[in-house]
Amino acid sequence: MNKIILLPSEISQKIAAGEVIERPFSVVKELVENSLDAKASEVKVELIEGGKKLIRVTDNGEGMSKEDALLSFERHSTSKISAKEDLGQIATLGFRGEALPSISAVSRLVLKTCQREGEKGILIEREGEEVLCVSDTGFPPGTSVEVKDLFFNLPARQKFLRSERSELGFTARYLTSVGLAFHEIKFSLRHGKKEIFNYPPVGSLKERIYQIYGKSILEGLMEVDYTEESMRIFGYASSPPSGRSDRRHQLFYVNKRSVRDKLLQASLNQAYKGFLEKDRFAEAFLFLSCPYSEVDVNVHPTKAEVRFKDSQTVFAIVQRGIQTALLKSQGIKEVYPVQEEEKRVYRIGERAPAPRMQIKKEREPDVQELFPPAREKEKIYPDVLGQYLETYIVASSEEGILVIDQHNAHERILFERYEKIDKERKWPRKLALFPLILELSPSQLLCLEENLALLEEAGFRVEAMGGRSYSLNEFPDIFNEEEAKDIFLSLLEEIEQEKVESRKRKILATLACKTAIKAGEVLTLDKMNYLVEELLKTSHSSLCPHGRPIVVKIERREIEKGMKRS
Ligand code: ADP
Ligand code: MG
Repeated sequence: MNKIILLPSEISQKIAAGEVIERPFSVVKELVENSLDAKASEVKVELIEGGKKLIRVTDNGEGMSKEDALLSFERHSTSKISAKEDLGQIATLGFRGEALPSISAVSRLVLKTCQREGEKGILIEREGEEVLCVSDTGFPPGTSVEVKDLFFNLPARQKFLRSERSELGFTARYLTSVGLAFHEIKFSLRHGKKEIFNYPPVGSLKERIYQIYGKSILEGLMEVDYTEESMRIFGYASSPPSGRSDRRHQLFYVNKRSVRDKLLQASLNQAYKGFLEKDRFAEAFLFLSCPYSEVDVNVHPTKAEVRFKDSQTVFAIVQRGIQTALLKSQGIKEVYPVQEEEKRVYRIGERAPAPRMQIKKEREPDVQELFPPAREKEKIYPDVLGQYLETYIVASSEEGILVIDQHNAHERILFERYEKIDKERKWPRKLALFPLILELSPSQLLCLEENLALLEEAGFRVEAMGGRSYSLNEFPDIFNEEEAKDIFLSLLEEIEQEKVESRKRKILATLACKTAIKAGEVLTLDKMNYLVEELLKTSHSSLCPHGRPIVVKIERREIEKGMKRS
């Protein structure tokens, strides 16, 4: 008996839609990309209930003829490529002709479009696969797509959607990232009756950064602009010693397309080696422009990743571009022959000079109070032998040798301590001596509003100062005032993408991570003994709160076997 059937189009369309459309923000992304490809100078996004109830994207772009508008809902209908050779030369954001059919397969959709002033507009109404209505309508030049009741016919997907605020946050975050790439275009976002933001067109990326993030961020940034061969890397990145304690603010674009890219991230990190302290990361808004033929954009269902033809060259050029800007920002005119320095061989006993650009901020880790003096040692605890690579504690026990990650171990200890403090609502709080003013981006603002109570429980008190400004007045007394702002901002970033029920845990884990000793810190024997003892008292001494291992054990049996004693 034959078993294979060809799926009816109703099902296959839904399967295909599942690839591209995950949540309201994915709809916004596809529609906004279409608006940009249609050369709009103004893009307006409106949402109701975080986009779950309604998403409307309106532009003043080229619009469509009636025939094109009808055809645009067919799978693989596109005006952007026509031959297979075009796939290697994609200059538009879209090219697969999948967005409109996918969106309309899982929602109730109304499209209105008009090509020229004075012409009649056209309206198409659809519900899932079905065309409900095609008619003339009064509409100014441009296109508007209204998407109602997303996933009304896919309840399984609907269940995965987050709270209204979280979904709105996804969209706000996406729009700010695309807004950076198109500063000459006006973007606005409304949620119900509330205007979330409205960015009029501006003349430069710098002004757009200012519109989105405020003035304070610009003070810590330097300009990057470097061209080599056919590639140009430009934008803004942290000017040392400023930086952040997490990597979240590293935005990369390739030919104006926002991408997640490990290679670009790695070359950024490489460029900053020696310029930032170990636990600091550069903030970056970096744009790579290169010939379309050098990069394959057709490698990811939502086009969030790209593949370079010659990744080595890209890596090197980006790194050189950033390094040139770094040296300039530090007042150094010429680029050092860094490679030669690295190649030199040092004899045993001869110390290689510290990298010339090493910038070290004097900072005595303020962890004393977290290390009460070591107690009398009891027999059951392993013996600390010493520290390895300034990162691991090496201890011996009956069963073998333990190699303990000092950061992960301390993180676990603090996490459990913070959990207890939090349960008993006993956070020691500290008042800020100077007002700690935070300028928040729209997505940070939304996240703050949504999590105000949770953050307050954890010891943070903020006050609205008008607009996007908040002042952080009180914070848990487990770190210094200088660190408070940075840690608070990291918390906002960390919990934004987290499910509601796991946010508290995330806050505590982040606080533990930020206050734990770091890899690379020299520890006294007392501290190491204390850490090992405390670690063994925790409920989970083998994994840190982020799930990374804490201890690697070299079994005594293994050692003896290796020595041929057993
Ligand atoms: P793609 O963007 O990959 O071509 P879509 O399904 O997103 O596929 O859109 C199909 C076609 O509909 C586009 O190629 C374009 O010609 C047309 N289109 C979609 N949205 C707009 C818009 N906002 N303005 C003008 N034309 C549009
Ligand atoms: Mg498209």
